[in-house]
Amino acid sequence: MTYPSAPYDLHQPASVDEAMALMTRYPDALYLAGGTDLVVNLRRRIREPGHVIALRRIGDLRGIALDGGHLTIGALTTISAVAAHPEVQRRMPALAEAAGLVAGPTIRNMGTQGGNLCLDTRCRYYNQSFFWRKANDFCLKKDGEVCHVAPGGSFCWAAYSGDTAPVLLLHDAELELVSPQGARRVTLAEFYGSDGRWSVGTEPGGLRPGELLLRVHVPLPPAGAACVYEKLRVRDSIDYPLVGLALRVDWADEAARRIGAIAMALTAVNPRPERVGGLEPLTGATLDMAAVAHLQKQAHRTGKPMRTTVADPAYRRAMIGTLVEKACTRLARELDGPLMEQARWA
Ligand SMILES: Cc1cc2nc3c(=O)[nH]c(=O)nc-3n(C[C@H](O)[C@H](O)[C@H](O)COP(=O)(O)OP(=O)(O)OC[C@H]3O[C@@H](n4cnc5c(N)ncnc54)[C@H](O)[C@@H]3O)c2cc1C
Ligand code: SF4
Repeated sequence: MTYPSAPYDLHQPASVDEAMALMTRYPDALYLAGGTDLVVNLRRRIREPGHVIALRRIGDLRGIALDGGHLTIGALTTISAVAAHPEVQRRMPALAEAAGLVAGPTIRNMGTQGGNLCLDTRCRYYNQSFFWRKANDFCLKKDGEVCHVAPGGSFCWAAYSGDTAPVLLLHDAELELVSPQGARRVTLAEFYGSDGRWSVGTEPGGLRPGELLLRVHVPLPPAGAACVYEKLRVRDSIDYPLVGLALRVDWADEAARRIGAIAMALTAVNPRPERVGGLEPLTGATLDMAAVAHLQKQAHRTGKPMRTTVADPAYRRAMIGTLVEKACTRLARELDGPLMEQARWA
């Protein structure tokens, strides 16, 4: 059933300065980029701003530039442009891969890099129509008092489910932000709060009210770095991740599979994209079955799938380990086949 959104005034500034002037005047306003997430949430009355500031006319915020050792991605660059950009494909193939796996082609053509990083968190009790949510007494994240996923708690487990963030985390991306109060630059890791309500500004760390993401800056990885992104979803043609996993290895010696540095990050299983800790013992080690087992153990410690999707949390948890295997076999083909089979049944 479709409902109209609550009434709002639409503004279409042509520059960041104009957008800031509008935000100063209408502090309850929300920014609209591609609208693939926000418009749905407006129609569900999950978001009810009096004013919406559409960003599409701000040409400065579109495009990808290679500048010295950095890649700069304008917040309004479409996801399909990120996936198809030759320098992204050449220098950061995992980012092109993750972008290419976002939703389906129509959404990738509308959705933007900025919107992907600022995506609201998701939960089966929240991403529903107003009618549905009302019939269920709403929930802690919007209009209600109880969390249906973890009743009795005061924490929201809604999962951040953007595909590009885990890859960008492993590349130490930084965000350039501006608000009527001034500009700041933060690392992507600092950007997200731990509570699933972050996107409505209840916790510091996330996007602050009125703040506009201008650009994403990503240092180019050195030669010898390899990164892959693996995604589990119900329908490959369109769905959000049930689990997403990025794995990066900076090889000390690729032929011998000797690791110089290794990093891993998860999406869709926690309220924010999470870097997996405890991987230091693998520095200098060989990417072998023991290393795979260590990566799986640490990923399981970090990922906390809850009843926020229709898929069973135990299944999603088990699949974290499977995605680790898939990622490792892509980085070291020798691991595929009998070795992995043996370890799986050990
Ligand atoms: C059917 C469907 C499937 C989807 N599947 C996936 C998927 O598989 N993977 C995935 O990652 N996403 C998925 N999405 C979500 C979404 O389409 C993408 O994440 C997209 O990149 C969002 O970008 P947007 O420009 O449309 O964001 P918008 O909808 O315009 O905005 C999203 C949020 O970010 C804020 N915002 C946007 N731009 C800025 C900015 N520059 N500064 C500050 N705030 C900003 C908005 O206020 C809003 O709160 C899916 C959506 C749908 C409808
Ligand atoms: S995790 Fe709980 S509070 Fe958060 S959206 Fe779901 S039901 Fe609501």
